[in-house]
Order: sequence, then structure tokens, then C-alpha cells
Amino acid sequence: MSFIAQRLNYFDSSDFQLAVQKQLLLKDPIDLSIGLPEELTPEHIKAAGIQAIQRDKTAYTPANGVPELRAALAEKLQSENGIKTTADAVTIVPGLTTGQLLVYLATIDPGDEVIVFDPYYPPYPHLASMVGGHVVYVSTLPTYQPDLPALEASITNRTKMIIINSPNNPSGAVYPEHTLRQIAKIAEQHNLLVVSDEIYEHFVYDGSHFSIGSIYPNTITMNGFSKEYAMTGWRVGYISGPQDIINAINELQQYVVMSSSSIAQHAALSALKHRPQIIEKYREKHDFILQEFSKLGIDVHGAQGAFYAFFKAPHDMTDFDFVNKATDYNLILVPGRAFSRLHGFVRLSYGADMATLKRGMSALERMIHELN
Ligand code: PLP
Repeated sequence: MSFIAQRLNYFDSSDFQLAVQKQLLLKDPIDLSIGLPEELTPEHIKAAGIQAIQRDKTAYTPANGVPELRAALAEKLQSENGIKTTADAVTIVPGLTTGQLLVYLATIDPGDEVIVFDPYYPPYPHLASMVGGHVVYVSTLPTYQPDLPALEASITNRTKMIIINSPNNPSGAVYPEHTLRQIAKIAEQHNLLVVSDEIYEHFVYDGSHFSIGSIYPNTITMNGFSKEYAMTGWRVGYISGPQDIINAINELQQYVVMSSSSIAQHAALSALKHRPQIIEKYREKHDFILQEFSKLGIDVHGAQGAFYAFFKAPHDMTDFDFVNKATDYNLILVPGRAFSRLHGFVRLSYGADMATLKRGMSALERMIHELN
């Protein structure tokens, strides 16, 4: 008999492992698989981290985070996102992935229904299931935009929450303000919580970012430092929302994380003071990728933001077959089943530098050409 708990059945990390294992086997891999920005953490942020260590800012912080960082984030959320909040209604978490789990632990009872738009960032459904929630998937095909009648039809008397992620991983879709206003209206009518993951808010090339938390108070807004500041390994994110939910998350944090890293929080504070300007570089990569996909005759409908393209493998190939075949060309992609219940899709990340992207798209071109 295995000692492993049943809840592990909710995970299947083999989808990602396939990409990682293949990469290890390749000599000179062209890695367009992981959601990593090409930049290294900027010098002033690293220096702030080093200074935090040298100044002995190395003890536990309050469970909800360093007060100056929370105050700076409350100010940012108000002035940039139009979200009415206070430093006390912001809590610092060790990355949004842990943050997502804390949100569920604080709000979801067994049997509560969580609406997730498909395709999705993998932790949304898996962590919801882990806490006993029931995931209701709403497809966004073919445009990757929320289908509002389908959303309404999926609501039952057990629905508690709608998860939104715009700009989206893996599709790149950016939801327009009018769609988010409609979602807010639906959520209000049915008294639902909205969770809005805005980690890619500044990676928008087509349209503009709108925070649903600015119009719907029962929104839990999540954001973090991983992508925009190239701080994936520092593990800092933040959540703001209704005070009672933030209080509940803080209570949980005391037992689950104690506090996020003091060093990383001080580095994050410095990150907020001098924001890196990366959008133009990403726009160039976005335009290049779209142009290449269009030459190949492959639709990437979303791709208005973040740094991903989610596309259907040609010739009805399965995602595994396509991703496996790509490794013959040294190209590493991720099978779409990691992000979707739909089969036959593949995710490409264009977080990589332009030279790698050029090699990657030329490999993809050769592959598609030979498949045709
Ligand atoms: N949310 C989305 C939509 C993401 O794509 C990712 C990373 O790929 C994360 C959250 C992870 O954020 P963090 O590094 O803060 O855990």
C-alpha cells in the first residue's frame, strides 16, 4: 500500500516533465517551453537584496509582509489599477502559485464550484481540486475570449468563484474592459468572488489592461514580481481584496509560510521604485512570432499579451506527438494538455531572447514544411 495521499491524484506533472526530460537529452536545445523572461534580475534589485542581508534584515517579517512594501503596493494598486485598497488589505505571499493555494484555502469549502476558463494556468484547477473544490471549465475557443453566455450557463447555486487571468497564460488573450465589466455584472448578480491573476499586466501589445478589481469589490487581485522584474526565483507576490479574506489569508500564512523571504521583500520594494521598461522589447518579439506563425498558416488567436502562443497542432496530431517531433529539430515546447482539457494544442513561450526565437521559428518552419 502506498503512503502517498489521495490528493496527489489531482496532479499530473508528466506533461511538463516530458519537456524537461527531452531537453536534458538534447545537445543544443532551443528552449521555448518555460514561462521565463529572458532578462536577469536588474542590478538595483540584486543590490537591494544584498543590502538587506548586510543590514541584517534577515529575520521573519510579519506574516502579511513588510509594511513599507504593502504600503507601496497599495499605492500602486490605487494609482495604476484604480483599485480602492489599503496597506492592510494587501498581503505579501511567496509567489502567486502559493498565493493561489492560500486564496482557495481561505474561501473554498468542499463542493464549492470554481469556474476556470480553458485554457488555464495549471495550478488554478489542480489546487482547487486539492482543497475539495469542484472545477467547472468554460471553454474559450476559438478566440480565447470568455464566452459570456457559456459563463452564465455554468453558474449553479454551488458556484463560489470565477478565475480570470488576463493577459493569459497560455493563450496570450487580453480581455477587453467591456468583457470584464460584463463578467463583473454576472458575478454581482450571482454574488460570486472573482480572482484576477494580473501577473502579466504590463505585457500587453494589443488592447489595454483593465483591473476588474477597480469596478467589482468582491475581487481578489493577484500580482507578483516574477515576470516584469525577472524575479522568478525570489518568490514574491501579493494579493489584495476584501479585508475579511485578506485577514483569513494572513491567519493561514502564519501556519503555512510564517513569512515570505525578508530579503526578497526588500528587493521587491526597490524594484517598485525603479521599474524596468521592457515592453518594447517584448512587443518586437510578439510581432516577430505572430508574423512567423502567419507565414506558417497557423492561427494563434489570442497572443495579444503575456509571452505565449497557444496553437493547434496541424494534421490532427496529438500534442505529445507534435512536441516529441519538435525535439527532432531541437525545439522544446509544452504539450497543451498541461493547460487545457482540449487535446492537440501546443504552447510556445517567447520569453526567450530574439536570437533563440529566430532559431526556434526556423526549426518550427522546417518541421511544419516536412510534415506537409
Ligand atoms: N500566474 C500565471 C498566470 C503565471 O503564468 C505564472 C507563471 O508562469 C504565475 C502566476 C506564477 O507566479 P509566481 O512566480 O509568483 O508563483
